[in-house]
Amino acid sequence: MTCRFWTSAVLVVLAAAAAYRVLVPPPAEFAHTPLLDEYDYVVVGGGSAGAVAAARLAEGAPDARVLLLEAGPSDSAMMEVAIPAGCSLLQRTKLDWQFTTQPQAASHGSMHERRSRWPRGKTLGGSSSINYMVYVRGAQDDYDKLWGVSGWSFADVLPFFRKSENYVARPLAANETHRATGGPLTVSKPQTSSPLVDAFIASGKALGLARNEDYNGAGGMMGIAHCDLTIKDGVRASSAAAFLRPALARAAAASASGVFHVRTFAHVTRVVTETDAASGKVRAVGVEFADTADSDGVASEDSPRRVVRATTEVVLSAGAVGSPHVLMLSGIGPEDVLAAAGIETVVDLPGVGRNLRDHLMVPVRFPTKDKASGHLITKKRAESLTTLLKYLVFSGGLLTTNGLEGTAFYSTGTSDHLPASVPDVQIHMIATGGSDVEAANIGTKPEFVAQGVIDDPDRWQAGGINFLPIILHPKSRGAITLNSSSPFDPPLIQPNYLAEQADVDLLVAAVHDTLKLAADEAYAEWIDASSPTTSPLYESAPDGAAAGVSYWEWHVRNFAVTVYHPVGTAKMGEPGAAGTVVDPQLRVVGVDGLRVADASIMPTLISGNTNAPCIMIGERVADFILSSLQGR
Ligand SMILES: Cc1cc2nc3c(=O)[nH]c(=O)nc-3n(C[C@H](O)[C@H](O)[C@H](O)COP(=O)(O)OP(=O)(O)OC[C@H]3O[C@@H](n4cnc5c(N)ncnc54)[C@H](O)[C@@H]3O)c2cc1C
Repeated sequence: MTCRFWTSAVLVVLAAAAAYRVLVPPPAEFAHTPLLDEYDYVVVGGGSAGAVAAARLAEGAPDARVLLLEAGPSDSAMMEVAIPAGCSLLQRTKLDWQFTTQPQAASHGSMHERRSRWPRGKTLGGSSSINYMVYVRGAQDDYDKLWGVSGWSFADVLPFFRKSENYVARPLAANETHRATGGPLTVSKPQTSSPLVDAFIASGKALGLARNEDYNGAGGMMGIAHCDLTIKDGVRASSAAAFLRPALARAAAASASGVFHVRTFAHVTRVVTETDAASGKVRAVGVEFADTADSDGVASEDSPRRVVRATTEVVLSAGAVGSPHVLMLSGIGPEDVLAAAGIETVVDLPGVGRNLRDHLMVPVRFPTKDKASGHLITKKRAESLTTLLKYLVFSGGLLTTNGLEGTAFYSTGTSDHLPASVPDVQIHMIATGGSDVEAANIGTKPEFVAQGVIDDPDRWQAGGINFLPIILHPKSRGAITLNSSSPFDPPLIQPNYLAEQADVDLLVAAVHDTLKLAADEAYAEWIDASSPTTSPLYESAPDGAAAGVSYWEWHVRNFAVTVYHPVGTAKMGEPGAAGTVVDPQLRVVGVDGLRVADASIMPTLISGNTNAPCIMIGERVADFILSSLQGR
């Protein structure tokens, strides 16, 4: 009986692997798409926003010629993209740009050269193909008050969130105002249910937080809940999976005269502009890219270059790092930055690369009692045959989890730059080993091991409950500038984390809040309060103590890491206002035929994870363009 079971199990796995190879296209997919010399629309970057923009343009203008250029390979290059639990395995792979920041003066003390690793998706779907799939739209006043841009109030953006959405977590009432079904992007709740996440939600009472499962709904976002996730039937719903592939299939089946082309391994090196001699007006007329299909995505000065013309518009959706980089390489940016890199200025636009904002979190970990081990997300459990079979046969089980299953949003009431309606803290909870959270980001300094601060590196890999308190609206600002004029030289990323003391104080306050959650009765049966490694993890704060800094401030300045949400580097605003790069229709100021649509246009961070608003921005740019065609 046992033998028969194992034989069948192995057969199922082999069959599934074979089916995967047959059904899922090879990694070189889209690498050699034959191209026209010119298109009506060229979209640069097939990420959260770009894939949506291109798909909607192809769908809304079926007779147009639409081209999407993506620097990375297809998202089918790694099967871990589709499997939610594979999300922690995608960083530092060929699907990741693998940026690192400049050294941080006020933070990242424990990290190699005080730098932060900055993963960004380099594949179809962009960062939505490597992210943790948490779906958050933000607070109404993020749009109404913090953004404050005409045409971008919450009432203006809500229809576009709804247009995308297929919400499957509960049946929708007929008078539903905020959620929607029938859109391409499935939003669901976790399929697995863990008592450790239930304990997290129950512990919210320690902070006065009520359960609020519909935090993207009409009741607002404050409270504590299971996460909404962009996962469809156990498979990641990236913008490539949800929007791009269906649109390509529809375009292929349609009899319209238009074309919809996607080309991967196309590293765009600049937007090609022409300046009218008489009027001095600058217009985007195409893009130049390096073809890296034959060098497995590795771009260099030796890569063959090609120009495609855009007769109507170029849409730049290369993300909060890529878009300002490409703009500056094209001579559009702050004159001093361009001059320092030896790039001739086409349009002096001082806001390009400025206003960089990012969310910052600090892991606080609590060892668990033995009885929790069966509920922790561990490598061993994830790789077991039972788990694999559950996934292959039922699209269920542990492989459908993103790890980040619980979240809380609240206002501490201490942020003087925010209305009280906007949360200033988010807390995520992960019940797993330390490796996902910390090792992915922290290159721990050897001297910390020597000093006994990290006395046992294995402890970082041990299982436990991690709280991830996040500051949602930090006051510290950074910038993206140029290292050189080479498009293959990563730009300089300077987030200036924790430059403002108010950000440190808020993060420390949020850490104290996690201590209250951990001390709540809901966790009594799970957290091992007697363990010597119970937080504070390290009993001393060597360098911090000398400077008279509190233990938790020291912890924050050493161990806080990015939440991967950079925004703001091509800020949307009224033309002429200081720092504006794009107008409310996302048109680049001073350049005709060029729009930017991605995280970089956000004037401020939103109160939560940034993928949902990027998808909304992709919807909006397509709508602006299609509306202009119809004279709306
Ligand atoms: C590891 C990680 C985890 C995250 N987790 C979450 C989460 O759980 N929930 C959430 O809401 N948000 C999350 N985020 C953030 C969210 O995914 C991003 O904010 C969002 O995807 C950004 O969308 P975008 O369109 O601005 O850029 P991206 O999605 O990054 O797309 C930019 C695209 O442009 C391409 N590109 C860049 N430069 C060029 C060039 N020169 N030529 C051609 N192509 C180029 C890139 O390869 C990429 O495909 C996470 C991000 C990361 C990296």
